[in-house]
Amino acid sequence: MNFRDSEFALGLLMEAGFRRAESIEDADIILFNTCSVRQHAEDRASANIWNLAKLKKQRPGLLIGVIGCMAQAKKTKIFEDIPLVDFTCGPDNETELPRLIKGLLKDRANIAVLNNIGKPRKEAFPSYRDNDIKAFVSISHGCSNFCSYCIVPYVRGGERPRNLKDIMREVKDLGARGFKEITLLGQNVNSYKGNGERGTGYGFAKLLEDINKVKGDFRIRFMTSHPKDASPALFKAMRDLPKVCEHLHLPMQSGSDRVLKLMNRGYKTKVYLRLVESYRKFLPQGCLTTDIIVGFPSESDKDFRDTLRMMEGIGFDAGFMFKYSPRPFTKAESFKDDIPEEVKTGRNLALLEAQGRISKKKNGLLIGTSQEVLLEGVIPSKMKGMSGRTRTNKTALVECEEDLSGRFVNVKIEAATCHTLRGRVV
Ligand code: SAH
Ligand code: SF4
Repeated sequence: MNFRDSEFALGLLMEAGFRRAESIEDADIILFNTCSVRQHAEDRASANIWNLAKLKKQRPGLLIGVIGCMAQAKKTKIFEDIPLVDFTCGPDNETELPRLIKGLLKDRANIAVLNNIGKPRKEAFPSYRDNDIKAFVSISHGCSNFCSYCIVPYVRGGERPRNLKDIMREVKDLGARGFKEITLLGQNVNSYKGNGERGTGYGFAKLLEDINKVKGDFRIRFMTSHPKDASPALFKAMRDLPKVCEHLHLPMQSGSDRVLKLMNRGYKTKVYLRLVESYRKFLPQGCLTTDIIVGFPSESDKDFRDTLRMMEGIGFDAGFMFKYSPRPFTKAESFKDDIPEEVKTGRNLALLEAQGRISKKKNGLLIGTSQEVLLEGVIPSKMKGMSGRTRTNKTALVECEEDLSGRFVNVKIEAATCHTLRGRVV
């Protein structure tokens, strides 16, 4: 999502007459697109901005802007925390960025903060894309789920679906331009209901069907699916629509019903397990990945063991494991962050270790099979070859002599680790 937001901002600025600088030293304006989902992300952004202190001293005319969720979360406080920053712009105001920057270039005392969230986002269709093989398309903005640990609804506003016509217009353009993979983005793609006309029954599965019909030789991916809105209709669409890839990212967050309730996730473990069962019935070879948070306030050893047992029982292909990080504005901020850092780290490592083992085993099962791989780039190493992704979103390193970027090839898998597959074109 942040990748798309950065690309979108860049596209808007280029259409307004700005040029992308070759390097930081060449730039007159430096934009930091930021994430606030965990404290660690904010700390990294702050450290990166502070790294410009010397440059800013040498060139006081340099404009430094912070865009994205941290801009929204901190508002004007960012100027106190990091005085190097000249302006901020929240995620819902990106279309106004060119105007804001032009204003500042004319008059430094001009407006410096833009952060009104929650209104319908202005549509814009800059043609610029950062990658000429894979493209991202937002289908909704914001989120109204209010998981108790999560800052997203506060910094990106409530969920607003994009107009169906606008989404289709963008997808058709990408199909016609020869993009090979389109990823639909939303915090909860499964709640997409078209333009919301009552009684039409339009849903995400139908959107996939409509996009599948668009002319072009491309794959379709999507993220993220919230378990409370994912359904067999989605799995059926994934099975039946040839362009839609067999990969589902379904964040589980915890294997303890008590913790899931405190997290306000809106489902119980039983429901999650039933979904997984249904998914695997429709797509026995489908890939399943997840997100898990450890160390949520009051998470006991037993809660954690339940999580570990559940994730091992399901056998995800891969998972992102996070240590709980208290966030401003959220409900959980008022809970006591009572799990010591070393316990969080220990639980995190235990999950990573278990996931590594499972991923290696799952990937190992693919040795000897043939997989369709979309080749993306030459591997900068001794091995002569290219890297790409299988339909199931696994990274594949493929031996080949020529640069076949952007091509779909069939690859015989010969070796596997927990993170990658290796093979040759057949
Ligand atoms: N909308 C997506 C997730 C967006 S955030 C969904 O609901 O699935 C991506 C992941 O970050 C979440 O799935 C969660 O596992 C993690 N996350 C969010 N807030 C967090 C916090 N305060 N501490 C630790 N991890 C967090
Ligand atoms: Fe955050 Fe929950 Fe919304 Fe995902 S669904 S963005 S975790 S509030």
